[in-house]
Amino acid sequence: MNSKKLFELASRYMPGGVSSPVRAYKPYPFFTASANGSRIYDVDGREYIDYCLAYGPLVLGHGNEEVKEAVSEQLEKGWLYGTPHEKEIELAKKIINHYPSIEMVRFVNTGSEATMAAIRLARGFTGRDKIVKIEGGFHGAHDSMLVKAGSGATTFGIPDSEGVSKDIVKNTLQIPFNDARALTDTLEKNSGEVAAVIIEPVMGNVGPIPPEEGYLSEVRKLTAGNDVLLILDEVITGFRLALGGAQEFYGVDADLTTLGKIVGGGFPIGVFGGRKELMELVAPSGAVYQAGTFSGNPVSVTAGLKTIEIIEREQVPQRINKAGERMQAALRELLRDSGVEGCVSGVGSMFKVFFSPSGKEVRNYADALSCDKNKYLRFFHKMLSAGVFLPPSQFETNFVSFAHSEEDIERTVEAYKENLRHFRGR
Ligand SMILES: *Cc1c(COP(=O)(O)O)cnc(C)c1O
Repeated sequence: MNSKKLFELASRYMPGGVSSPVRAYKPYPFFTASANGSRIYDVDGREYIDYCLAYGPLVLGHGNEEVKEAVSEQLEKGWLYGTPHEKEIELAKKIINHYPSIEMVRFVNTGSEATMAAIRLARGFTGRDKIVKIEGGFHGAHDSMLVKAGSGATTFGIPDSEGVSKDIVKNTLQIPFNDARALTDTLEKNSGEVAAVIIEPVMGNVGPIPPEEGYLSEVRKLTAGNDVLLILDEVITGFRLALGGAQEFYGVDADLTTLGKIVGGGFPIGVFGGRKELMELVAPSGAVYQAGTFSGNPVSVTAGLKTIEIIEREQVPQRINKAGERMQAALRELLRDSGVEGCVSGVGSMFKVFFSPSGKEVRNYADALSCDKNKYLRFFHKMLSAGVFLPPSQFETNFVSFAHSEEDIERTVEAYKENLRHFRGR
């Protein structure tokens, strides 16, 4: 069956025909038959160079052989125990080794779970209710974070989801990214009431928006100075920008860190961690409850361990960052030469072309929203026809993986060049 038929069928049995909103685009998404390395293949027999990469986890590309082998070996020994196992210790040690701000971790199953638990822990530790988040920041699809949320919520125009209780979101305060003044004011106005500030060090779910020089250290100073916890949500940036994530890359630290995506090597995982004094409040050693049937499951833990081993051995962050920077430089030049209104935003392996008004740089959520998302979708389809799979939303990040070759990148730049021509002016 072809993608069109499959989507008709899928729409009968699943809302919008998909298992997660951002996967749906008009007229219908392609259905995947298989994927390998930098390539993804659809059931209609087409091949694409993949820059969506499952929205972040696949830092090594698809179907890495070493990860496959490690997982196969683990499958022989069973895939779920409901008991502790040794590899959890190994993965915990690896994480702790690379993140100086983390002394203990708890494994969960998704990034959403990780941020939900980290927020609960911050509230439990401080005895306060309010959380400050960044407008357009995305921390998973749970109630307290579905306020001005990025990712699919923004793509589909429902950043403030229905069905979320007002009593819950009244404790979620919003500030714009790259604006230390706004944080100062909010912390002053809510003095003694804020448990934590949660922030993606690089905004990854409205397209990548890097922090401006000094912004993150200012956030660190302000939170510490006001006795408020800082939660760095490194679900995307962890093990990507550097082995030690954005914390190493930008030289900041956190009270609590959330990880996910890459840490599971393409299998479901989430992690939250921090210093011992905080983490020991988590059940069963403390009174902040958190639990999960599949948590620390040996398949995700094995895939994550192997993936991190490869990242260490091959210096993956340095290499993908370089490839990403090359891509960004080439795209900037193309935009300049093409007369297309837009800008290139990104850092390292994370990048995006924004169709921004007059080519204005994108510094925060409001700037991202001012971009032409319909134009982007038309552009997305052109690129798809040229064999390049970008994320199907103006507000999602493109990723370069370790599996992308020089030639892949050259071909991609060519495709941008060929297709941007059609997008001059408004
Ligand atoms: C993807 C993402 C999440 C949610 O992770 P899931 O595994 O999809 O639940 C949370 N925070 C950030 C920054 C993310 O990019």
